This record gives sequence, structure tokens and C-alpha cells, in this order.
Amino acid sequence: MNSIRFDTQTITPSKVVCIGRNYVDHAKELNNEVPTSPVIFLKPNSAICNELYAGTEQTLHYEGEIALLIIGGEIAGAGFGLDLTNRDIQNQLKEKGLPWERAKAFDRAAVFSAFVPLTQPLESLRLELDINGARAQQGGYPLMIFKPEFLLQEISRFFTLEDGDIIMTGTPKGVGAFRQGDQFKGSIFSCDTLLVSQEWTAQ
Ligand code: ZN
Repeated sequence: MNSIRFDTQTITPSKVVCIGRNYVDHAKELNNEVPTSPVIFLKPNSAICNELYAGTEQTLHYEGEIALLIIGGEIAGAGFGLDLTNRDIQNQLKEKGLPWERAKAFDRAAVFSAFVPLTQPLESLRLELDINGARAQQGGYPLMIFKPEFLLQEISRFFTLEDGDIIMTGTPKGVGAFRQGDQFKGSIFSCDTLLVSQEWTAQ
């Protein structure tokens, strides 16, 4: 089983619950409707990875996201996550109204920084993603259509959130393709205070 770092602990999440189209600007950039209830999909533990791998056969897209760690049914930690997506396959599946697992739940499709305990207010959370030294994505709580408190409530209606499970809160605009050698730096802030940051070189 794959694990993540939370403060000084090693944690093995049973699943990652992902939210799609949670930023208006991103929904628009992919020509999707802005949803009236959260779009929810899962990535299994086998998709979790601490390294970043580019696709070898097909191009993958990155989606930088604020990731929240759940303990005792509450949001206990925050980290930076990359929801890797095979956009070509996802577009084919979407067209046919089919599930997205082939495009979203494959091995190494959920890349995480370490997680840190969250004592700051959720409203203050924001992310930045730099690729090869240029700002690719930024966003945060104020721009989310569905806020984390509501997401937790809504998800819990359908799924038991085990200790260590992760919620990926959706991506702001600026998603795109990446290649081997690209340099990523993902950071989570509370207002202007850096909470956690991680760099990856795509392999
Ligand atoms: Zn996403």
C-alpha cells in the first residue's frame, strides 16, 4: 500500500476523493457546465505517489489542487496535490458518458507533497503551482464553488472517510500537458504564510 507523510507520521490513505469542476474559471476552460452539486470521483490507494511521472505513451495533464487530510472525520491536515489526468481518454469517456477511472485512477495519478497539521482557518488556504519557473496555477478557498466544509459533509453522505483519506478540492484554471524534465513547484499557503512546498522533476 502507498503512503503519505503527515507531520512526523506515515499514513496509508484508503482512498482519495476528488472534486471536479470546483473553480468556475477551470470549468469554463474545459467547456464544462458549472455544476449545481459537486462532481465527485475516486482514486484508489494504488494511484498515490510521491514522485511525478510523465506519461510514456500518452501525454498527461497536471491539475494542481489543495489536498485535505481527514482524521476522525475532520479536516486535520493540508498538502499540495497533483491530480494527473489523461485528457484524451477523459474526453472520449465524457463524450460517451462513461466513468473516468481510465483517465484519472491509474497508477501514480495522485501525487502529493507532505501534509502538515492545519490550525489555520480553511478560508485562508490557497495554492500556487510554478512550472519551469513560471506561475502556471493559483487559486484557493474564495474561488471554490463548493467549500471544503460543505464537501466534507456531502462526501460523508456517500462514503465513510477513514483516517488518512484525502480530499482533492479541485483545480483552478491553468491546467495543461507536461513532459519529462519539467520542473514543478507546488505550494500551499495560509494567506501569505507558506505551510508546505514541494518540488518535483517530472521523470
Ligand atoms: Zn482535479
